[in-house]
Order: sequence, then C-alpha cells, then structure tokens
Amino acid sequence: MKKTKLKLKKKTIMIFIAIFIFLSIGIYASVKIYQNIQYKKTNEYKLLNIGYTLEEIDLLEDKLDNEYIDTLINKEKDDYLLTIIQEKYFLKRNITRYLEYHEKYENTNPSLVIALVNTNNDYKYYEHDIDTDTSKEELLLVNKYYHLTEDYVPEDLVKVSNKYYYGENHQVREKLYNAFINMWNAAYKEDIYLIMNSTYREYSEQLNVYKDYERSIGSIEADKIAARAGYSEHQTGLAIDVFSTKYTTTSNFKDSDAYLWLKKNAYKYGFIERYPEDKENITGFQAEAWHWRYVGVEVATYIQENKITFDEYYAYFIEK
Ligand SMILES: [Zn+2]
Repeated sequence: MKKTKLKLKKKTIMIFIAIFIFLSIGIYASVKIYQNIQYKKTNEYKLLNIGYTLEEIDLLEDKLDNEYIDTLINKEKDDYLLTIIQEKYFLKRNITRYLEYHEKYENTNPSLVIALVNTNNDYKYYEHDIDTDTSKEELLLVNKYYHLTEDYVPEDLVKVSNKYYYGENHQVREKLYNAFINMWNAAYKEDIYLIMNSTYREYSEQLNVYKDYERSIGSIEADKIAARAGYSEHQTGLAIDVFSTKYTTTSNFKDSDAYLWLKKNAYKYGFIERYPEDKENITGFQAEAWHWRYVGVEVATYIQENKITFDEYYAYFIEK
C-alpha cells in the first residue's frame, strides 16, 4: 500500500517537471522569436543589411541624429558620409549641406568641404545674411555673411595715442588697445616699430570706402578688396591695420620683419592675422598682411596652433 502511494507521488512529480520543462522551452522560444522580430525592426539590422559594419553603425549613431539615420535605411551604403562625419570640425547641423556640396564639387577634399560649408561659403556673399550676435564681445563675427547694424557702435572705444598712430581722433576698443600696447612694447624690445594705420571705422565711413572702390573698379572687384558697410571688421573696433614705421604700404608690409614678428608673436597678445594667404575661399578676402583682429589670447592661441581661420573657429566653437 505504502509503495503504491510513493510510486504515484513520484509519477506526479515527473509529470510536473515535464510540464515545467516544456513550458520553459516554449516561453524561451517565444521570447527569442519576439526579440528577433523586434531586432529586424531596428536601424542596426537594416544598416547591416545595406552593408555598414557594426563599427560604422556605432560611428553613425555617435555623429548623427536618429532622424537622419532613419533616412539612411532606404539608401545605398554611403562611403563619403562615413568619411565626412569623421572630420575634425564636422557639425551635424550641416550634414545635408556637406553632401550637397560634395555632389556639386566632387573633387574638393573633405576637410575643405567642412571648412567651406561651416563658414557658409556654399552660399553667395551677402545673400545669406545674418545679424551678428554682438553679445559675443571680442568673439563677435563680421564677414560677408554676418553683419553689424548701421547704428552699431562699440561701447568702450578709447582714443589711440599718437605714439601708436600718426594722427588724431582714432579709436579702438579698450581691450584691444591694452593688448596692443603690450604687444607694441614686446616688439619694440626687438627693434620692431609697430604703427596703427586704420582703427575703428563707423558705418558711414565704410560706406564711403566701398563706394569709392565701386565707382572706380565696379562692384565685383570692389567686393574682393573692401567690405560693404556693416560687413567690415573695422566697425567692431576690434580690428586694426598695422604697419611698421619702415614698411608703410599694403604692397610691401608682407616682406617686413614686423610682419614676420607679428606672425610669430601676435597671438600671445590675443591678435590673429584675419585674412591669411590661401584662405581667401574661406574668409572671402584676399590676403591682408596688415589687418589684425583682437580675439583674446586663448582663442588666438588655438587659431595659431591649428591654422584655421576665425570664421571656422566661430562656426565650430561659438555658434555650436
Ligand atoms: Zn583692415
């Protein structure tokens, strides 16, 4: 009697175990099937199917918005896209414009595409017009896309002593002036005699400068050498034209020891060469060895070390 009971109990336990195993396998399989269906809906699965590797997918997810990645799953694998997103100054807000630019000018190298688009050079001068943000202080940007209003006058203009400028009534912003005096003293110790040649210029004055050029050489040529009113850095009070007492023309200053000295040392005082040679396509201006812009020591040092223009710096670090 006892034996039969025990046998029955054993049987029941076995049945329970069997049911348990059966159910577990069933649940496990269902979960797996479900997971698989869900995975196939993911961008990762779809991108792998197009030909991107897992590493490349990580990169896309790191550099681009999900909404943009959603658009990739219906296209072929794009190797140029993978190249451009790895560029140092890549900005995801410009992704569509980089690709459009590349489509138009296939042979432009990726770093240049980044630099040109970041600085709006995929648009025509004066047609993509932005009121510049004057709250940026010494980092405010003025170029052929960013302009000052007609009534903009910097608040802290100070008069320049005729020790640093031949003539009266020339003004610059105070922070530039202090930095310039420090720089002047350092240069003087090395027998370099710097002299300012152009300082703060008000809107109406720039209007006359531009109009004079326009009358004599036409607007296309005038645009190459002079800014239109509102688009000149001289209106910021943060830019000066510098010569040395020995070299006082725009044609010979670049051959002077003063220019070489400035190239090597000006950043230590917060100044940058604003329109360097070979950067005309980015700055919109032919090289001007004499035009120096105050941006502060930290930014000037970065620009000096990384050999970029202020326009590129602004797009990447300030406007971001
Ligand atoms: Zn200038």
